[in-house]
Amino acid sequence: MNELLDAALGYAARGIPVYPVHWPHPTPDGATLGCSCRHGRGCDRAAKHPLVRHGVNDATTQAGQLERWWRRWPHANIGLATGICFDALDLDGPAGLAALLKLARAAGLRLRGPLVATGGGGWHHWYAPTGLGNRPPRGMTHVDWRGIGGCVLAPPSRHISGQRYRWLRDLDRTPLPEVPAALRALLDPDPPTTTVPARTAGPYAPGHPYGRRVLAAELATLGRATPGHRNHTLNRCAFKVYRYVAGSLLDDQEVTLAFTTTALAIGLDPTEVARTLASARTAGQANPRTVPAGPGPKPEEAGS
Ligand SMILES: [Zn+2]
Repeated sequence: MNELLDAALGYAARGIPVYPVHWPHPTPDGATLGCSCRHGRGCDRAAKHPLVRHGVNDATTQAGQLERWWRRWPHANIGLATGICFDALDLDGPAGLAALLKLARAAGLRLRGPLVATGGGGWHHWYAPTGLGNRPPRGMTHVDWRGIGGCVLAPPSRHISGQRYRWLRDLDRTPLPEVPAALRALLDPDPPTTTVPARTAGPYAPGHPYGRRVLAAELATLGRATPGHRNHTLNRCAFKVYRYVAGSLLDDQEVTLAFTTTALAIGLDPTEVARTLASARTAGQANPRTVPAGPGPKPEEAGS
């Protein structure tokens, strides 16, 4: 047994059809990763395309078949068929996250279901199946819906970057929610007109205890920022926190999620938020920090 097969069998036991997908493979010089297919580093769907002829149409819940596949390809990534047991909202990086959270804020959506951080820096929100096919929600960019006929990669698959897909909120911690009406309206062919109250989605709290205190302090500072100072405050606070991400105290995608949520809640523009966070992240990455030496570290020490 290996952890990929274990996970594949776990998804199948829930009724989710599974199929094997190419994986990141060290290049002959050992220095980088390429696709496990014959194209290697030249593959344009590296570690994302199926190992079986009919792709998602070959997906199965039969344990014996999964065991044969992962015995033949022990490192195979895990592809799941969407549209049967679950659908997925696919957010392509911070711009996709910002687009979703803007809708969430305007429509009072609660984003509380299972959530995957993809190895490529995006997110998959899992929902109960809708009966819809693959399509982007109307008016949203960097966002896609995976439904009938679609597929997603699932934890613990590895992205070509070497990063694993992982659960931020796993299937056992939370039930699959129905797709919220405001989002459904953007997916249906003929949208009903709905009016919904504005509400704020709450941020998430990840990481090492010290890192979490720094994050909470900086999010609070951002939350108090006044018009005219909000983008600058976002940049300053996010830079401080991304330094602890670089120091491995906090999770990159969880921090981006928390800052994006708070920044949109205080009225910043999604595009501006994505741009500012990208800049703060680059600067923070270049200046890693970890838990300060000495007794009794205070979050204010890092947060002022
Ligand atoms: Zn390939």
